[in-house]
Amino acid sequence: MNDEKLVVEIVCVGTEILLGNIVNTNAAYLSEKIAGLGLSCYYQTVVGDNPNRVEDAITTAINRSDIVILSGGLGPTQDDLTKEIAAKVCGKELILHEESLKDIEDFFKKKGINYTDNNVKQAMVPVDSIVLKNNNGTAPGIIIPYENKHVVLLPGPPNELKPMFEESVVPYFHKLTNCVITSQTVKVVSVGESLAETMIMDLIDNQTNPTIATYAKTGEVHIRVTASADSEEKARKLIKPVVKELKVRFGNNIYSTDENVTLEKSVVDLLAASDLKIMTVESCTGGMLASRLVNVPGASEVLKCGLVTYSNKAKRKLAGVKKTTIQKYTAVSAQTAREMAKGTDLGPKSDVIVSITGYAGPDSSEEEPAGLVYIACNVCGNITVKEFHFKGNRMKVRESATVNALVLVRQCILEYISQMTFGEKTE
Ligand code: ATP
Ligand code: MG
Repeated sequence: MNDEKLVVEIVCVGTEILLGNIVNTNAAYLSEKIAGLGLSCYYQTVVGDNPNRVEDAITTAINRSDIVILSGGLGPTQDDLTKEIAAKVCGKELILHEESLKDIEDFFKKKGINYTDNNVKQAMVPVDSIVLKNNNGTAPGIIIPYENKHVVLLPGPPNELKPMFEESVVPYFHKLTNCVITSQTVKVVSVGESLAETMIMDLIDNQTNPTIATYAKTGEVHIRVTASADSEEKARKLIKPVVKELKVRFGNNIYSTDENVTLEKSVVDLLAASDLKIMTVESCTGGMLASRLVNVPGASEVLKCGLVTYSNKAKRKLAGVKKTTIQKYTAVSAQTAREMAKGTDLGPKSDVIVSITGYAGPDSSEEEPAGLVYIACNVCGNITVKEFHFKGNRMKVRESATVNALVLVRQCILEYISQMTFGEKTE
């Protein structure tokens, strides 16, 4: 395993990016992946479709980095010139790659389109290069080994670049470094980032492999444990005891250690496992909470209904809030949130009802402070109400309210289950 980190540089080619017509999501994607692989990235460049400037960008990059990843400009048209220039910089001639030509012909045949002569241009590759199959488009990717360096050419469309990177470039990098980097993310709620960091400072200070890093997300903290080893299995073995220790420290505040499980999925799964149905009654979030739940495939198993009771009248007529409650305490109050979560005969019967009412801002006054939000959760008749003071703009307040509603639902269900279990044991 090499101790020295290889330095990767990203060069995105396209006048469209310089003009701001498209957002450079490829650079963001590649940077994140490179960091995740334990490689360093010191520079990113965007250059237009101009032969001299593309040549300059590639020459500069190859002089100061071990690996240069280029995105874009592999298409069939005249302004697609990345490959030709990269080959020139590396002093390689272009030759026809028969297999790629066949793939391109098949691609067009499948789509029922006639392919033109300039598609042959896409099957030309620099001599001694490694050709990467493109399963989602025509231009193959290419890796040109150059002295002891590597120039990686990837197509611009993200739906082609990403799978090609995962399928072909990642294994190539693993071979280069003779090292596999694996990570696992422990997802925590109800604990702020600084407290989470303090709780594991000793682990962070004492570990080099695996490394432990915290990332703050709205209402959540993700703790990523990353290990490197010469095999996936060995890297996983290094991660395991650290994740175990994190589980001891954060307990029930961990909602998942699975990369693919979102907070809303953990709530939907918990509802399904507990055989509980949920209904949402939202004001300032305007349906965001229901929408987050609907993000999860299979949400229909647990989500009965989502109400948006924005006006006072809707809160009264649809959610059953008493007129006197709103008059006495206002629409943004613990009392209103509680009544919104009581349920009425109008809606379908649900075991869990969660309500949100608050001031999303941006206008703020003493009587109506932006960011003041009440969230109530009713689990089988037990209602919990919480008061929050969120910071940020209107969108941020609404997002924070939504995430905290999910967190509250999770907490209340877990408490309900533990009471039920405790109750059964003492009987
Ligand atoms: P094509 O065969 O489609 O021409 P290409 O490899 O030549 O592919 P470009 O012509 O540079 O790539 O870009 C094609 C499309 O890919 C762009 O219109 C844009 O939608 C997307 N794209 C290119 N570069 C980027 C980037 N850096 N970030 C996000 N999207 C990009
Ligand atoms: Mg193009």
